[in-house]
Amino acid sequence: MLSIKRWHVAAAIAVGALFIAAIESPKPISDEPIPQPLVAFDSAWNTGSYANYRKPPTHNRETHIVYVQPGQNLTSLLTNEGLSAQQVVLLALTAQPLIDLGRLQIGAPLEISFNDNDQPRVRLAKEYGEIIDAIYENGAWNVTKQTVPLRAETHEAAVTISSSLYEDAVAEDVPVTIINSAMMALSHFVDFQRQLQPGDIFEAQYARSEVVRDKALFSHLQNPLKLSYLRFTNGGEDYRMYRFDGTFYFEDGRVAQSFLLKTPLNGARLTSHYGNRYHPVLGYNRQHKGIDFSAPVGTPIMAAGRGTIKHASRKGSFGNAVIIEHAQGYETLYAHLDRFNEDIDVGDYVSQGDIIGYLGNTGLSAGRHLHYEVYRNGRTINPVDIKVPSDRRLSGVELARFKRYLAQLKSQASELAGLAP
Ligand SMILES: [Zn+2]
Repeated sequence: MLSIKRWHVAAAIAVGALFIAAIESPKPISDEPIPQPLVAFDSAWNTGSYANYRKPPTHNRETHIVYVQPGQNLTSLLTNEGLSAQQVVLLALTAQPLIDLGRLQIGAPLEISFNDNDQPRVRLAKEYGEIIDAIYENGAWNVTKQTVPLRAETHEAAVTISSSLYEDAVAEDVPVTIINSAMMALSHFVDFQRQLQPGDIFEAQYARSEVVRDKALFSHLQNPLKLSYLRFTNGGEDYRMYRFDGTFYFEDGRVAQSFLLKTPLNGARLTSHYGNRYHPVLGYNRQHKGIDFSAPVGTPIMAAGRGTIKHASRKGSFGNAVIIEHAQGYETLYAHLDRFNEDIDVGDYVSQGDIIGYLGNTGLSAGRHLHYEVYRNGRTINPVDIKVPSDRRLSGVELARFKRYLAQLKSQASELAGLAP
């Protein structure tokens, strides 16, 4: 994309003057000329060109890079480099549609240069791979946005877990962004707080993009990273996932997402496990047929999987409860809700992740929490143990495309198990 914005000299100077007055007052603006060295004065006078005399530049006119220092703003930075305050104000105004120069990141590099007529040019990064180029000429800035081509470099990592996936992968120099993406994708199947075992294997292939030129202008920005493949072995399972069109799939084209979410709400803490426990309200031991999550009242509760709403009203000690009927004989129950999603009715079809209600403290409950139960053929099971993958899969043309993509991925030399031909 190329966009250009020009300001006319007269208008710009008027606006610029106002701007300077506003930010510089009460300090008076001095119109007095800066005293010049006599030699320069005399030589200019003697050649009869005094009217055209300009102060010889004392600033660095070569192309060079300066970095935004703490406490520095655009004006202090650029006037330091030989631009006039007016030029800086005009630059900020002209560039405004493309970049907010009033919000420069500390450490951000700016490339500054001056041409033979001492007209400044400023270049800086907007996002990774995007440069804002500002050239001053005849009293106006010409500001454009340019795209720098990227070159992607493929990286592979194989990590044997000894303490935690995060720590062990960081120790192997896997970028944090990649670890987070991988953990997000794996969270459908692996409970990292409880199910990790020493000896589990994590593999990842990812691409790191880098600009083909002007690297110095992007030194403060993170290189774009893209996870293309990941593998995790855990508890006898071997998950191999391939990203295709932004979604992870297993090798056979099934969506690499679980049939039922392990955690049907975000930002929650598991506060009570499945199994025998002392009941806080009843005061005696009894089987806890679900798991409890603690989160603030009003936290949205999601359908753990797609299915049909079987119940959405008060249900005895469960308080406000929702029951969803899923495929393969599964049902999920969500209890003690503060309220329901008003759009939800019995018989409605819901997708995985749809909001069905909000966390609360209704029914026989000692405090705000979600009580979550999973049934298989009428009997409760431990939600933590569910490893049933989603039944959604690619088909037809999409599956054929995916297979071609996989074949290409596996044709490249790789040390990773899931990328071997
Ligand atoms: Zn409970």
